[in-house]
Amino acid sequence: MGGIIFWAIIRTAILIILLWVFSDWFEYKYWWAILSLTVYGFIIHPAVVQYKLFLAKNREVLTNTLCSSCKHFDETAVLCLKYDKHPTKYDIPCEGAEWEPE
Ligand code: SF4
Repeated sequence: MGGIIFWAIIRTAILIILLWVFSDWFEYKYWWAILSLTVYGFIIHPAVVQYKLFLAKNREVLTNTLCSSCKHFDETAVLCLKYDKHPTKYDIPCEGAEWEPE
């Protein structure tokens, strides 16, 4: 999840520079349309696609593991907060010994 936010910030910085550099190329009356389209196409849409890929990649861990029902599990980062490790479908960091219900 942090990677999605990080790259959204990087794309935002790049977009600000590009819009500033090319601001003389388009008329002011089109500014809001260009701004809206570029923000959606360059920042929001890629972030949504990345988030969907993140959910698809981690679906098994988020729904079908012991960690998914544990109070130490952070779903947004797919992280065990107690061990500071990423559980996988085949690797539960505590091997079930530290599981606590939510
Ligand atoms: S304490 Fe154990 S069961 Fe709970 S999230 Fe961490 S590894 Fe998973």
